[in-house]
Amino acid sequence: MVRYVYSFGGGKAEGNAGMKELLGGKGANLAEMAGLGIPVPPGFTITTEVCTHFLKNRRRYPQEMETQVEKSVARMERILKAKFGDPGKPLLVSVRSGARISMPGMMETVLNIGLTEKTAEGLIARTGNARFVWDAYRRLIMMYADVVMEKAAEREPAGGLGIRMLMEREMDRVKQERGVNLDTELDAEDLKALVASFKAMVRKHMKKTFPDDPWKQLYGAIGAVFQSWNGRRAISYRRIEGIPEEWGTAVNVQAMVFGNMGESSATGVAFTRNPATGENVFFGEWLPNAQGEDVVAGTRTPLPINKKGKTDTTRHLPSLEEEMPEIYKELDGIQKGLEKHYRDMQDIEFTIQEGTLWMLQTRTGKRTSTAAIRMATEMNKSKLIDRETAVMRVKPAQLDELLHPMVDPEAEKDHTPLAGGLPAGPGGGRGMIYFTADDAEKAAQEGKKVVLVRDETSPEDVHGMRVAEAILTAKGGMTSHAALVARGWGKCCIVGCSALNINIEDKTLTVGSVTLEEGDKITLNGTKGLVYEGELDLAEPDLGNDKCYATLMKMADKVRRLGVRTNADQPDDAARARSFGAQGIGLCRTEHMFFGPDRILAVREMIVAEGETARRKALEKLLPLQKGDFYGILKAMHGLPVTIRLLDPPLHEFLEMGDDETRELAKSVSMPLPQLRARIKSLQELNPMLGHRGCRLGIAYPEITEMQARAIAEAAAQLKVEKVKVLPEIMIPLIGTAAEFIHQAAIVREQVKAVMKARKVRFTYKVGTMIEIPRAALTAHEIGAVADFFSFGTNDLTQTTFGYSRDDVGGFLPKYLDLGILPADPFQTLDQSGVGQLVAMGVDKGREAKPNLKVGICGEHGGDPDSITFCHNHGMDYVSCSPFRVPIARLAAAQAAVLEGKE
Ligand code: PEP
Ligand code: MG
Repeated sequence: MVRYVYSFGGGKAEGNAGMKELLGGKGANLAEMAGLGIPVPPGFTITTEVCTHFLKNRRRYPQEMETQVEKSVARMERILKAKFGDPGKPLLVSVRSGARISMPGMMETVLNIGLTEKTAEGLIARTGNARFVWDAYRRLIMMYADVVMEKAAEREPAGGLGIRMLMEREMDRVKQERGVNLDTELDAEDLKALVASFKAMVRKHMKKTFPDDPWKQLYGAIGAVFQSWNGRRAISYRRIEGIPEEWGTAVNVQAMVFGNMGESSATGVAFTRNPATGENVFFGEWLPNAQGEDVVAGTRTPLPINKKGKTDTTRHLPSLEEEMPEIYKELDGIQKGLEKHYRDMQDIEFTIQEGTLWMLQTRTGKRTSTAAIRMATEMNKSKLIDRETAVMRVKPAQLDELLHPMVDPEAEKDHTPLAGGLPAGPGGGRGMIYFTADDAEKAAQEGKKVVLVRDETSPEDVHGMRVAEAILTAKGGMTSHAALVARGWGKCCIVGCSALNINIEDKTLTVGSVTLEEGDKITLNGTKGLVYEGELDLAEPDLGNDKCYATLMKMADKVRRLGVRTNADQPDDAARARSFGAQGIGLCRTEHMFFGPDRILAVREMIVAEGETARRKALEKLLPLQKGDFYGILKAMHGLPVTIRLLDPPLHEFLEMGDDETRELAKSVSMPLPQLRARIKSLQELNPMLGHRGCRLGIAYPEITEMQARAIAEAAAQLKVEKVKVLPEIMIPLIGTAAEFIHQAAIVREQVKAVMKARKVRFTYKVGTMIEIPRAALTAHEIGAVADFFSFGTNDLTQTTFGYSRDDVGGFLPKYLDLGILPADPFQTLDQSGVGQLVAMGVDKGREAKPNLKVGICGEHGGDPDSITFCHNHGMDYVSCSPFRVPIARLAAAQAAVLEGKE
């Protein structure tokens, strides 16, 4: 018999946390919690396999499932001493989705299943709380009509307004009639009348009656939740997050517990540590006499869970710690136990029903980058996790967030905030305000920087949130939808900014006497929760001051084996990269030095020179300048290797000039203007990327190689005299044959030797090559025999392997990515199955010829975490990337080492 249903509760569970694929994250965790003896309302999980079966087989369940469901319901009845559909002591259940990884709010939920005309009356008799029962009943009808009878039935709402919206309007109408503002101000009679009118609305709009049979309700809800896996929101979220369609969702059926049964009932959400800062304090929000959705939906602003969690704006509000001290103590004990058990920060949901605490959920909590780093290092320090685990806890890309701009504190001093709210997502963001997700998306497509401003967000808004620089909401708390989603994406976000008066119809935002219109600019400080009118400067953060970051990086350095260098060609960039932890320069592109205003004329003279004598004359002018360049960069990287690449690009790139510049050049090379123009024209190529560039230049004009090699050697010799340790590595670009390398290396070595002899100094140096042409990879054994090192130029290697021009790929790549013809931009993340083969072959063949051959990568892929893993796995010595990516590369390299150990 295949098991489709796994029960939990009553101190036992059939599943456990390791069964996420089958039970989904929520189901596996509920089982684990129940197994730990934590008070979890009993229930059962229907597996993801049933979802796949159901969606493939025209919405039919596998045989046996219903029998298993019935048995599990009977088990719940025994534990709770209640009965499904029994008016005496009715059991009510919730039906919720639960995929392998959490997809907050993307799928459907139906609560209070089991309420019928009879059980409602029975429950009133038992609890004596008619208001609560009618409220639960109207919620059931609203959710069921929306989720099961409309969405799952794929019914197009007449007139565009969905049944939920119609019911909400009806409720608003009743509130108006009663002269009240809040749902909680409606009394039992009002709600009872609403139940009747909701049922009538179902009959009118759905042409069906609302089912009065609990089992019908249960199966209807189970099917609808499975179906919501293929709902519009879920599909779009899966696309953004890269979640495979085949996974499916599990369904969790669980006994209802109520946080809205009066003043001794409550509900809340909490994190075992502060998810924004990482501080080790129990952090959360609660609402007395409320259901979970009231906290998450942001319709009522929640209260702080404890005294420590109070801020200046919440100081006066009552905390759970003060209102229900006994229960708070029990909850605090449970949260501590959960964090210890899972060895990670947990995001928990709980409900207190008439003085009894029930844990509804625990899962690994989403966190900001700052928090991730602080938690990883502090948990390591307290020995909760080991160094390897700590290193795995921060995604390399999260470090990017630390490099994100912050609102410049100086600029903030000069501005008065327009409004304040809760700091849900740190960092600074600014842009033009838009009031709907669609408008925001449209504006972003037009290239505008947008800030999405809403009363509150819902999963329907994710596309607009995605494109926004920052998100601002008038309602909601730190665990509201907007806050959770923004934090997950590392976006600047402020929620609960109650001073905002948003008028969707007029597309205006009023705060006090200030009214802003769509397209007006604002700035958000998401770290402090402050909103400013207009655009304030954003300042780069300083990683150097963050102690936890430094600790994390130290741990990464202890774990990793792959070296990390940087691509830099200016001393200040090199120094910055060094401060980020670069262990050398992996690529100094010398052509970048040729555009300086002090030398561009000499460069052009060299290029247009007709004949060696004229060229040498121009090169004489460049020699001292280049020597100065290399002196600066070698000095900045003292003690560390510096790979200097000889001139690479096609020469015509330097010849884009205006008329005045052309005349100036003609004069300095004493060439008549028409002759100069003809010379420039003759240098143009049809395919410059495949033309006269790289080592081909040095072979055609050996005096260029001579000059560069001499300049490097002179700089190194001088530093040697000054007792500065130098390790130059001279690199020949775009080699396709060993003979090309031999030709160029001979010139380099001859020059270096001559300088050493003349200056009477010796220093170690290497002569190696880029591997960036497929033929070089294919013949790497021949090249490896004569070169001191290899550095993979995966930009050109990708270009030449795919045959895609680096400069023209924008014309078709978006379409390729859209259609899924390419899984990712191969210029961003290494194409491991294609280009990767050449890299692997190059490394292996090179080392066949020279076992200790030093091998690195200096293409853009050197800063991409997935590509870094590949480089580690293929035994490279180092990766080289732009300075700001050095921390990312260090962490990614450490993670590759940890993962290797695990495999
Ligand atoms: C490369 O081709 O990967 C490389 C690093 O060189 P460039 O980008 O300068 O061509
Ligand atoms: Mg290249």
